Amino acid sequence: MQICRTKAEARAVINDWRAHRCDVVLVPTMGFLHEGHLSLMRLARARAGANGKVIATIFVNPTQFEPGEDLDSYPRDEARDFDLLRAEGVDAVFAPDAAEVYDPKAQTIVETTELAKVLIGRLRPGHFRGVATVVTKLFNIIRPDAAVFGEKDFQQLAVIRTLVRDLDMDIEIIGGPIAREGDGLAMSSRNVRLSPAERAAAPVLAQALEQAAEMAPTGITASRLRSHVRATLEAEPRAQVQSVDIRDAVTLDTIAGPLTRPAVILLAAKFGQVFLIDNRVLHPAKEST
Ligand code: AMP
Repeated sequence: MQICRTKAEARAVINDWRAHRCDVVLVPTMGFLHEGHLSLMRLARARAGANGKVIATIFVNPTQFEPGEDLDSYPRDEARDFDLLRAEGVDAVFAPDAAEVYDPKAQTIVETTELAKVLIGRLRPGHFRGVATVVTKLFNIIRPDAAVFGEKDFQQLAVIRTLVRDLDMDIEIIGGPIAREGDGLAMSSRNVRLSPAERAAAPVLAQALEQAAEMAPTGITASRLRSHVRATLEAEPRAQVQSVDIRDAVTLDTIAGPLTRPAVILLAAKFGQVFLIDNRVLHPAKEST
């Protein structure tokens, strides 16, 4: 596996691959890899095919953290990450530092103006601007044919699909399903920062999503469903509920009435200092014939 620290090194690797007519598939991450990330590497490998190449990035992007968030305490273990990527047969990793990625004189940003403001964007106002800008930079450095992102970050996936469409980027975006622990907790690099009591409480997110999936086909309105789910979360004293939203699964528009199309329920909660998110697509009842 080739390890690239600079943009120039990454470009040299990509140019070599291109000279051999290889498809290039990118998987961006912030590192501290877990099985969810590795499942995306496998999707990337499947898309790349036998002759194609998979490149992962490991970069804890400072511009997507708000002041006072967990940028400094975000977990890191690069040596372990490289071993995991090697074991998955990833061809190269781009792991730059922040000074390599951002020119101090940079003045250009990328923002999905509406999507950046809603849902998690309300809780983290600059977050999606940071994500959209760094992903655009990674796309320009790597110039991949396809890129893989997890459905765990449902809104992020929508932001990336939107920027690719709006800016006419010729890149296929592939979404990968959420990898979960045995008790349902969505895998996250931040899970290691949960205390034992918080870790024991955190599966309430997945339980609330399960409840929502069971109730969705009954004809219940989105607002009532939301209240039920919020009550389930609030019954867990260690969960500080940040948001519960039910949105159109494609447009992320709000829904209040009965579900008529696939919807998505999006949860955000803090357990101690640790911010966790989860989501699930909900299907309305099939119309009787
Ligand atoms: P992160 O390192 O948290 O920025 O995540 C890098 C990529 O992995 C993003 O596309 C995430 O959506 C995806 N990802 C994170 N956790 C999971 C998970 N539990 N299942 C599937 N994909 C995930």
